[in-house]
Amino acid sequence: MNTGVGRSGKSPINSPVNSLVLVLTTRCQLRCPYCSQGEMLPRQDMSPEVLRKALLLASQGTRPLQIQLTGGEPTLVPELVRLAITEAAQIKRFCTLAIQTNGVQLDTHMVRFWKKHGLQVGVSLDGTPRIQEAVRGQAGATLRGLLLLEEEGVPFNITTVLSSANVQELDRLVWLLAGFEQARGIGLDILVQRGRAARNKQVSLPDKKHVIQGLERLLLALETVNRERNTPLRLRELDLVRRCLQQGQQGRSRTFCLAACGESLAVAPDGRLFPCAQVLGEARFSAGTVDAPQPVPPFPALPLNSLQKDCSSCLLRLHCPDDCPSRLSHNQAEERLLACTLYQILAHYPGCEPGQERATPTVVVNQTEHCP
Ligand code: SF4
Ligand code: SF4
Repeated sequence: MNTGVGRSGKSPINSPVNSLVLVLTTRCQLRCPYCSQGEMLPRQDMSPEVLRKALLLASQGTRPLQIQLTGGEPTLVPELVRLAITEAAQIKRFCTLAIQTNGVQLDTHMVRFWKKHGLQVGVSLDGTPRIQEAVRGQAGATLRGLLLLEEEGVPFNITTVLSSANVQELDRLVWLLAGFEQARGIGLDILVQRGRAARNKQVSLPDKKHVIQGLERLLLALETVNRERNTPLRLRELDLVRRCLQQGQQGRSRTFCLAACGESLAVAPDGRLFPCAQVLGEARFSAGTVDAPQPVPPFPALPLNSLQKDCSSCLLRLHCPDDCPSRLSHNQAEERLLACTLYQILAHYPGCEPGQERATPTVVVNQTEHCP
C-alpha cells in the first residue's frame, strides 16, 4: 500500500501531527445556514483506505494524539466511526477520540459503543428548541439525542455557534442544560463567514452590544445553575480566559490551537489534507493528500491583539487569549474584535480578576476536539 509515508514513518509534514480531524463524510441531514463547509466539497464519504492512511500519517509523535471524528455528520457513516475507533486503538501512541455530532441520529447501540471506547462527545446545539428549530432544524431529534446520552450516562459538551439568532437567549440554553447531569460545558463559536455563512444572510454575526448583554445573562444563569449541580457546567471561553490570566502571572506563553502551531491535520473524504476542518477545500491551505503529503501551510499572522488599537487597560494584555486563526482569516475587520469583547467581559468575571481564586488547571494550547 502506498501511504506516502516512508519506511521510517516520517512524512513531508513539517511537524508531528498532534491533532487529526477525520472528515468522515460531507453528507448531513441538516442545512444549517452558517455551515462553514456547506457546498465547499462534493458529497462524499471517506473510504476505509483513506482513513487508514490518515491514521498512519499521524502515528508518529511523543505527545498524545487528539483524533476528532466529524463531517458533515459522522453518525451518517457509523461503520466508519467504528473503523476509526478500532484502527486508532492499533496506533502506538496515546490517543484521545472525540466525535462532533448534530445529535439527530443517535441510537442506543451507537452510544453504548462510544461509551465503551471512551469517546468524548460534542453536540451542536444553538439554544432552546425554538432557536434550534429555526436555525438548524430537527430540534426534537437533537433533544432526543441528548436524552439518550443522558440515559446512557455519556458526558457531552455543547458547541454553540454564536450569531444574531441566539445571542440574546444564551441564558436559556444554560437553563435547558441544567436538566442534564451529563452536560459538561458549552463552547461559544463566533460565526465564521465561510461556506454557507458567507453567502446566506439569514443568520449573521451578532452585534457588540448584544454580545455583552447575552454573555452577562449567560454568566448569571451559569452561576445560578451551578449552585445546584454536582458537576458544574463549564464555559470553554471562561476557562480559556482564566488560563491566560494565570499565564500572565507565570510568564508562560501559549498558542491558540494545534492548527495554529502547524500540528493539526484535517483529512477530507477524498484524502486531501488541510490544517483544520474549517479551511477544508481552500487551495491556499492545501497540505497535499494522504498519498503525497506536503508541509502544512501556516495561517496568516493575524493575532487578535494586533487588530485591537489599545490593549493597555486590558487584564489580558500580558497573555491575550487570541482567537481561532481560521475565524480571524475569514471574518472582516470589526467582526474580528467580537472575540476581544467576549474575553474582556469574562476577564472581569469573579474568580478571574487578580487576587481571586482560580481553580482551572493551566494548559499551553486549546484542545481542538470541539472545533466546528
Ligand atoms: S482581549 Fe482584546 S484588549 Fe485584551 S489583550 Fe486581547 S486583543 Fe487586547
Ligand atoms: S481553533 Fe480554528 S483554526 Fe484552530 S483548529 Fe479550531 S477551527 Fe481550526
